Amino acid sequence: MSVQTPSTLQNLTLKALLRDEALALSCLEEVPFLLFPALFKEAFAGRLKKLMKAIVAAWTFPCLPVGALMKSPNLETLQAVLDGIDMQLTRKSHPRGKLQVLDLRNVHHAFWDIWAGAEDGSCSSESLNEKPTVVKVLRRYARRKQLKVVADLCLRPRRDEAQAYFLKWAQQRKDSLHLCCINMKIWAMPVDFVLEILNVFHPEHIEEFELNTEWNVFNLARFAPCLGQMRNLRKLLLAPLYKNVFKIANRTGDREDKCVKEFVSIFSKFNCLQHLSMQGVHFLTDHMSQVFRCLMTPLESLSITHYQISQSDLDSFSCCQSLFQLKHLEMKGMVLQVLDVMPLRGLLEKVAKTLETLNLQGCKLKDSQLNALLPSFIRCSQLTKINLYNNDFSMPILKDLLQQTANWNKMNVEQYPAPLECYNELGHVSVERFAQLCQELMDTLRAIRQPKSLSFATRICHKCGEPCVYGQGGRLCFCWR
Ligand SMILES: [Zn+2]
Repeated sequence: MSVQTPSTLQNLTLKALLRDEALALSCLEEVPFLLFPALFKEAFAGRLKKLMKAIVAAWTFPCLPVGALMKSPNLETLQAVLDGIDMQLTRKSHPRGKLQVLDLRNVHHAFWDIWAGAEDGSCSSESLNEKPTVVKVLRRYARRKQLKVVADLCLRPRRDEAQAYFLKWAQQRKDSLHLCCINMKIWAMPVDFVLEILNVFHPEHIEEFELNTEWNVFNLARFAPCLGQMRNLRKLLLAPLYKNVFKIANRTGDREDKCVKEFVSIFSKFNCLQHLSMQGVHFLTDHMSQVFRCLMTPLESLSITHYQISQSDLDSFSCCQSLFQLKHLEMKGMVLQVLDVMPLRGLLEKVAKTLETLNLQGCKLKDSQLNALLPSFIRCSQLTKINLYNNDFSMPILKDLLQQTANWNKMNVEQYPAPLECYNELGHVSVERFAQLCQELMDTLRAIRQPKSLSFATRICHKCGEPCVYGQGGRLCFCWR
């Protein structure tokens, strides 16, 4: 008899138990433990709270990945699970085995496919093959003494009641449980609150962290030691952090600089950071090179957007080892108009063999700058996506660029700015010229290679706030429709 496909007899037992909750409760001790996952799954779907609580209390598998069953947060079912956990914790003996990990993350978990049958009632060969790995993981969990609770948290000012209940529950049990948050997102919460949460969910377990706040540099400096404890961070997003402390006197300025330096030094604590995104981090102007120098691991993706970059920041691009294996580079809204872009060219040359996506939208680059970058652009043979919208290029330089892209044969999506010749002296788009010139550019490229998705866009219209797009997703701005 296979454990993956409950026999007809087992199915009949399950049905009988689910029909009568009181009966199920009274004979739970006698139910074979292999039936527990299927029984729990059904009790969960039918919101049989008493039965759920009793099953959790008597759970004999090392892991209970209940988050995989929770499509949306529900206070009552969560309460039933947590009550069951409390009962597990107070039980003196666990003759049939004991729960080691409660996983509340809303992610697919092979456990249910294996032990409770797949969604379609069958069990795929894939999940059967997965079983040895799962068993190994479960054994590893079993070695821990304390019950581990794993969750992902998105903290916002308006919390749902299920999350509020869970946080309070966790806080009250922080000394007796091993609480782990893998993915944490913070939206506009006060620094004290976040510090309090990270006192419950220890920062070292966090692998993905998003900080969307309006903290000033003094708050950031207060938070820095805690951020520095996130040694296992793989993905970090900081946005948008306003530098809203004014340098009234030199003394304030000095204090502020000290705080920024303190914050920057934290980047040397991350042992496995791969993805770094920063939006509007104006307080880091002139400190970006220090950030890059602090990085301990090569980044796979770097995104710095809507940021006023200084020349000294940009200079560091070509000499920071941690950037030389980038697959994704985004510099959207970083105005480069008056800067020397040679360091960017230096970086692009270094990543020519790895770079897959490049976003320089809204960098306000000029012809001379594109000319300088061109040799490095065309060497990036792995590119699948490029976005150069909202740069100021003329027809000849755009043609020149397109004609030299013969080795971009992996390209899927390419987005270019409409040439400057599309605008009249008042800066308005001449629709006929726009269509004619973009078609000409398209023909130029098609003579070289077959583009998959190609488009040209104008700047956004002063009146309606929309651009005109030619090619893939083509449309005129609202004024012309
Ligand atoms: Zn318009």
